Parts: sequence; structure tokens; C-alpha cells
Amino acid sequence: MEAYLAQRIRTTGPITLADYMGDCLMHPDHGYYQQERIFGADGDFITAPEISQMFGEMIGLWLANRWQAMGAPTRINLIELGPGRGTLMADVLASTRSVAGFHDALTVHFLELSEQLRAEQKKAVPSATWHSSLATIPNGPVLVVANEFFDALPIHQFEFKDGIWFERSVTLDGDENLKMVLTEPSAKLALVPEHLRKPKGNAVVEVSPASIGIMRDIGDRLNNDGGAALIIDYGYDHANFGDSFQAVKDHRYCDALTAPGKADITAHVNFESLKRMAMDAGLQVGGPTGQGQFLMQLGLGSRASALVKGKSEEQHAEVFSALKRLTAPDEMGTLFRVLSVTDIDQEPAPGFLVGNGS
Ligand code: SAH
Repeated sequence: MEAYLAQRIRTTGPITLADYMGDCLMHPDHGYYQQERIFGADGDFITAPEISQMFGEMIGLWLANRWQAMGAPTRINLIELGPGRGTLMADVLASTRSVAGFHDALTVHFLELSEQLRAEQKKAVPSATWHSSLATIPNGPVLVVANEFFDALPIHQFEFKDGIWFERSVTLDGDENLKMVLTEPSAKLALVPEHLRKPKGNAVVEVSPASIGIMRDIGDRLNNDGGAALIIDYGYDHANFGDSFQAVKDHRYCDALTAPGKADITAHVNFESLKRMAMDAGLQVGGPTGQGQFLMQLGLGSRASALVKGKSEEQHAEVFSALKRLTAPDEMGTLFRVLSVTDIDQEPAPGFLVGNGS
């Protein structure tokens, strides 16, 4: 990976942070997501579906509810973006088996670029079909779910320094080590929202054209064919200045430039931008709200109680520790945001407080 990046930089000059992120995560041979042992206690990080089956069960409830709200169409594309190990979808399917007609109507589609993860996903959900782009998913109503997908999409960072905008890019120092450098801004600078274009002092702003592109495609689908989408990720409800680019390896933060392709690199998701796009497209939006609030409103508490009925003290502790991790404000409950986007013809989606816009 280092050799590939060095060669690329020698040939073209410094590369934008977005290109660096795209290469590090998704290079077909050396990309982070091509390797094994990413998720779980012995990997680099744990995601909500890997913490407990209850997460997928609540998402399953939500998706089945939306299918019913759409009038239970006889054909529905159930799409997951970036399914990781396939755990979430396996739990969604297991928990919705008793919803009359739902499984007969659905076809599972996975958007995934990593060959390694596609192979894992096939073990968890053998009936799925894989795609590299939303464009190849057949027409018809859709249910879309994305957990910790948008944070993996490349971002550009622009730095406002002494009254001038620069792009934050990656280059080589004299010893051929990767380092950050400020370069002329790319055309993507135009994506910086109006209210962040004139900082008072030095500042950094992030934009993600890849996220915008995928959100636009989802919005088009929902408008043309009907459906609902649920996006869960860590991020912020209001776009502001700041640097959220981060690298994680073995459950610890690390330098994003020292081991390219070996660490997970992500950025916080700009939910304001996703929400605004959906609203501008004339769609209905719920949230963003905290994951804890969302899951509890869907009945996670009762589900946990039912799961431990008649079980050992140890199993009891395990289930309630998972519940706490998923919902507590100092764990995943608040930092993780949930956004729902649906076509305009359905009653509002469950999981969001009504009346205060969240
Ligand atoms: N949703 C899973 C995995 C999250 S990790 C979970 O919650 O456990 C991010 C996932 O998105 C991985 O499956 C990764 O391979 C996939 N991914 C990242 N960038 C992608 C892209 N540009 N296109 C398609 N999939 C991508």
C-alpha cells in the first residue's frame, strides 16, 4: 500500500484526502476492507449488529413496519449498504420471519466493494445479490438500511488559513514518508455550505461528494418507486467547522498516515447535509435522533426483558450490558444518529419523537 501510494504521488503530485481515504479503504488489493479480522473483539472495532442480535431485531421491526406502511407491496428490494459481515441482515431476516408475506415479497441486495467481505456476507445471507453501485439494483419499491456505511465514504477537507482556502492533501516528505500538505482547492470546494464559507479565523471544513451522490440516488429511488431508508452512523446534526478524520486500529485511535490500509479510517457523517438533500427532494424525514432514543422507542427494553426470561444470571448480565452499550448517552446512544427518509405517501416512521422535529 505504501509503495502504491508513493508511486501515485510521485506520478501525479499530492493526492486529496478523499483520494487517500478511497485508496486506503477500498484499493482492490491492499485496501483496509480487503483484509480479514476487521470486526469484533479480536479485530479493530465492534459495530452495533456485532454487539447484540437485538439491534438487528429492532431494525427488522422498523423495516417490516415500513413495508406494511407502503401497503405491503408484493415485490420489494431490501438493500443494505456496506453490510460488513452480514450480521445485521441475518438478524433482520431471522426476526421478520413471522411477518406474513414479507419474506415472499423481498429480495436482498448488498452494496459492497470488498471481495473479502462479500465472501463473509455470503455465509451469513446466501440468498443475497451483490452490487458495486445502486444503479444495477432492479426497479421497484425499496427498503434501504445503512449502518456505519457513510462514515467510510471519502471526505475532502478544506482549510481556511490567513484568509485563503486550501485543500488538505497527502504527499511524501524527504524520507518518502506520507505527510499532510496544503494544496490549491479542488472544485469540490463549491460543496461547502453557504454558512461556512467565510470563517472568522483559521478553520477546517469537510465535505463528502460520495455521500452526497449516494444520498441523491436513494432520494431518486424513493421518489420514483416508493420506499424507506434508515441511516445510522456517528456524526453531527448541524454542519460546522472541524476535523473529524480519524483512524482506528485494535480498538485504539492511531495516526491515519502511518499505516495506510492497516487501520480503519473514517469521518463523522454530516447528517444535516443528508437531511437537507432528502427534504429538498420532497421526501419525509425522521430525525436525526440518538440511537438510544430510537431503539428504546422501538421496544428494545421489552425485547431485552423477553430475551432473558428464565435465563441464567450471566446471560442476564450479557443482554443488559449490550443494551447499555447500544443506548447509554456515554456509549453509542447519543453520538450515533439515526435518520429515516421515506416517500411522502406513508404515515410517519416509528422511532422518532413527534412534535419537535426529531
Ligand atoms: N454495516 C456493517 C459494516 C460497517 S463497515 C456493520 O455495521 O457491522 C463499512 C462497510 O461498508 C464495509 O462492509 C465496507 O466494505 C463497506 N464499504 C465501504 N466503502 C464502500 C463503498 N464505497 N462502496 C460499497 N461499500 C463500501
